Amino acid sequence: MLDYFDLEASLSQSEQLLVESAREFVEGEVDDIGQHWIDGTFPRDLIPKMGEMGFYAPNLEGYGSANVSETAYGLLMQELEACDSGLRSMASVQGALVMYPIHAYGSDEQKDEWLPKLGTGEAVGCFGLTEPEHGSNPSAMETTAERNGDEYVLNGSKTWITNSPIADIAVVWAKDTSEDDNPVRGFLVETDRDGVTTNKIEEKLSLRASITGEISLQNVHIPKENLLPGVSGMKGPLSCLTQARYGIAWGAVGAARDCFETARDYATDREQFGKPIGGFQMQQQKLAEMATQITLAQLLAHRLAELKEEGRMRPQHVSMAKRNNVRMARDQSRVAREMLGGNGITADYSPMRHMANMETVYTYEGTHDIHTLILGEDLTGIQAYQ
Ligand SMILES: Cc1cc2nc3c(=O)[nH]c(=O)nc-3n(C[C@H](O)[C@H](O)[C@H](O)COP(=O)(O)OP(=O)(O)OC[C@H]3O[C@@H](n4cnc5c(N)ncnc54)[C@H](O)[C@@H]3O)c2cc1C
Repeated sequence: MLDYFDLEASLSQSEQLLVESAREFVEGEVDDIGQHWIDGTFPRDLIPKMGEMGFYAPNLEGYGSANVSETAYGLLMQELEACDSGLRSMASVQGALVMYPIHAYGSDEQKDEWLPKLGTGEAVGCFGLTEPEHGSNPSAMETTAERNGDEYVLNGSKTWITNSPIADIAVVWAKDTSEDDNPVRGFLVETDRDGVTTNKIEEKLSLRASITGEISLQNVHIPKENLLPGVSGMKGPLSCLTQARYGIAWGAVGAARDCFETARDYATDREQFGKPIGGFQMQQQKLAEMATQITLAQLLAHRLAELKEEGRMRPQHVSMAKRNNVRMARDQSRVAREMLGGNGITADYSPMRHMANMETVYTYEGTHDIHTLILGEDLTGIQAYQ
């Protein structure tokens, strides 16, 4: 595995163990991810197995979590995404977008009810922020929650929601119309409630080994106890996104690394003009550039983990790492694909699958452009969104 600057040498024993177990899991338990990608299915038998392995939010404290370091958590995301972005998305959504807000902002009852079940994979969660008319600017959301006695009544629609068709619980972000200024609040919505429907989005050409859907909410009554009490305003969803983006900054490196390993193996094996194509300078240049870019992204991810551990990581740090590392993986997966010639366009090899997945990863959790604007504002003090 490409680790050119020997970063894994400085891992603690427990961090090394987690990486090894994640690698073994991906090799031993994930059966033909390429076929799932073609079929547009997620290997659902893996959901409880990933829970058993402790892959959902292992960096949180309590509730059965292993409370691993931020580096170990990042490395886990890297190993899962080296297999497929769909696998990492499963862990990211369940851990960073569903368990994290319950852990950070939920009542004790909500934590006791949901964290153990989500941690083992007995229950599946999803995160409903994006709406058909409001993607990059979620603060303009139209979904509402109206207080009515001991209940809230929710109306609206969410789209592009990872796992919504298979979720038991949705963290839904909605404007609370019963409070002044209609602040955005988080609500736990069981998907079997009357008025909730979750259609699957079919025929995606990216992130195919992941289930994506909508959430329609029509006069959905939920008890007032389902409100996440600990947060009000856009800070709620944005803080969850920071957690998930952190994992993506690491995960994308895994996808790129797998592309590199596949291209290097291919180049040393495939012969043209009487010698392996890896013996030609042009192919070596591609490998050298790929290895350099992956190494730079690894260094950025490791430093990001240190800042997170020290409590000094800012959302803008995460934006830079997500933006850079995903762009790197998107670019390098295409180079790897190219090195495989015609074989590179088949699902027998991973680069084109990763390359297509990267179009989603480049877009979700803040598009590349939006992270550019976040950095631009941080660097100049002038916001350029509008
Ligand atoms: C497979 C998949 C899974 C997803 N999972 C989830 C999920 O689980 N939960 C969830 O809530 N969401 C999810 N999303 C939604 C995702 O976060 C949004 O697609 C993303 O935020 C972009 O929103 P949009 O698609 O509406 O694009 P838009 O916001 O309409 O953007 C379109 C284009 O305009 C650009 N743009 C927008 N505003 C500006 C600006 N001010 N300046 C310059 N350029 C701009 C964007 O960069 C983009 O290129 C998922 C998306 C996909 C594809």
